[in-house]
Amino acid sequence: MEKTTHSWQSFTLEQWARWLMRQPVTRPVQQIQIHHSWKPTIKAYEGINTMEAIRRFQTKVKKMKNVGAHLYVSPDGLIWNGCPLNLASEEDSQSEPPAVHLELIGDFNKGKDELSGPQLYAAAGAIRFLLSKFRLNVDQVLFHSEKENVACPGSGIDKAWFIAQVMRWPNRPIRQMIRMPETKPAAIQVTNETNPEQVMAFIDLPNNEQAKKALLKLYKKGVIQPEGPSRLGTAKPVTREELALALQLIYNQLKR
Ligand SMILES: [Zn+2]
Repeated sequence: MEKTTHSWQSFTLEQWARWLMRQPVTRPVQQIQIHHSWKPTIKAYEGINTMEAIRRFQTKVKKMKNVGAHLYVSPDGLIWNGCPLNLASEEDSQSEPPAVHLELIGDFNKGKDELSGPQLYAAAGAIRFLLSKFRLNVDQVLFHSEKENVACPGSGIDKAWFIAQVMRWPNRPIRQMIRMPETKPAAIQVTNETNPEQVMAFIDLPNNEQAKKALLKLYKKGVIQPEGPSRLGTAKPVTREELALALQLIYNQLKR
């Protein structure tokens, strides 16, 4: 009998992108669908223990062979491998266009969790890498709520804002997007003590504490987008386009 036990592996965005580049995917992929876990919430997230609870629920209660999503993005900015990319999710119906499903761990309904910081960074980056891998356009990224009458991935996430986060990544082949030298491909072990600040360690932060704090705050709010998995792009000048997007985002947040 086929082994059906899913075993979790977690990656930083950079490690995951390198892994993704090497995956031979022969099935067609025409969509990327975005979900949230609803439960567990961000507060309830405890690394591997939470992921195991998700796996148990999907395989034991829902009787699926695999977990439902192809990748899970947790609050600490880690990407967890889910259902093999070459297999359709068991939750998809036959009539659906073939999709890759990404699930955000948290409850992103209005007034609940906020999608920000390392989690936003990893999710937007992962989608950009998936678009590149499967040669898709950004309009092929769909919220679950666009397909069915559900609130998933949460009424608090504005689609246009979310897509703007994805678009701030350069539209280039994955290989060119990962500029950092090869790092160990081994998955990192997550414990309950995982510090999100460590996961999102940028190597080009300024020494000026005040500037550093301001940069990280704007980054967490999604106003400025990093240049790559380990660079914030501190020394790079701002284009009019980036400035316009940043001001628009601040304006929208003030309006809410
Ligand atoms: Zn969903």
